[in-house]
Amino acid sequence: MAHLDDLRALLDADRWIERVIAQREHLPELEELSTLEGELRALLAALHEAESAAEPVRHAYVSAQATAGKHLERARDLERALAASTGSARELGAMQHELEQVRARAGAAEDEELDSLLALEPLEQTIAAIKQRAQPGVARRGELQTSVAQLRQSLDEEITALRATRDELAHRLAAPWRQRYETARERAGTSGAARVDAGRCDGCRIALSPLDLDRFKHLAEGEVMDCPECGRLLLP
Ligand SMILES: [Zn+2]
Repeated sequence: MAHLDDLRALLDADRWIERVIAQREHLPELEELSTLEGELRALLAALHEAESAAEPVRHAYVSAQATAGKHLERARDLERALAASTGSARELGAMQHELEQVRARAGAAEDEELDSLLALEPLEQTIAAIKQRAQPGVARRGELQTSVAQLRQSLDEEITALRATRDELAHRLAAPWRQRYETARERAGTSGAARVDAGRCDGCRIALSPLDLDRFKHLAEGEVMDCPECGRLLLP
């Protein structure tokens, strides 16, 4: 029975297409990529957190450095003025007093500068460590994206070729058979026919009742019956 052979060939072609589509959707590279992207997102969040912690400390360091610089410069000016001064004892005393105050302020600002620097060091180490950890992940992500794109392209080409073959097979069938097959396929998905394996329809995997199984076993030559569950053509 030629139409039964053609239906079997069409069934196999449709199942093959389905397998390639599933392969395309479940590439191991995609799974690795998704895990990796999750890790990179976590690292990015950690980086943002470390940078916001470092930011005010860095700001305090720069500001203390500027303050210390300003006071030190004023102290040098006063020292020069004192050395060259021919002013009164009162003027000299006032300058001397200011110099002491300015030196004290410069000392306090330098302490603050040093404290900020010490606080900043571990924060910047954390930032550098996060960037270092992310580096190989970013490189791997690029590789994975490239290979996913290449694999998908080649699977898409394969699917296109398989669909052309299955359409040829479908058109080899007489119109009424083709229509029955396509209607069942649209309803059930994947394929419009199935085989019976150990008393079950191998399309929907549901066991035939003893009565239906008996009917299936005694089909007239060249006849098929619909699976009572999924409606696929059960091929002898
Ligand atoms: Zn079925």
